[in-house]
Amino acid sequence: MHELSVTQSILDIALAHARQAGATRVLRINLVIGELSGLVGEYLQFYFDFLSRETLAEGAELTFQNVPARLRCLHCGTEYEPESADWTCPQCGALQPAIVGGRELLVESIEVE
Ligand SMILES: [Zn+2]
Repeated sequence: MHELSVTQSILDIALAHARQAGATRVLRINLVIGELSGLVGEYLQFYFDFLSRETLAEGAELTFQNVPARLRCLHCGTEYEPESADWTCPQCGALQPAIVGGRELLVESIEVE
């Protein structure tokens, strides 16, 4: 279960941050999710609600900012964001992309009180 381990990491980061800030509660965790990460926000929230029970982060809301896939053509070096499932290079028409963005999951900010 990919989501479960990812969610545990998010929770660990949030709790470490909250302790450092001397907070009593984590209100919101703002995440950046790449289109190619394979992660679904609803699942993350579901696991988070489960894992965060009886911690400072219980009841915290996760928000998601999605970032698109970004590719670099290995043939001509052009970087582009593919349209849907068509990963053909718009510059030279080759289909030799390397993924350079869109797989990430980042904790952008954490709101505490
Ligand atoms: Zn190209």
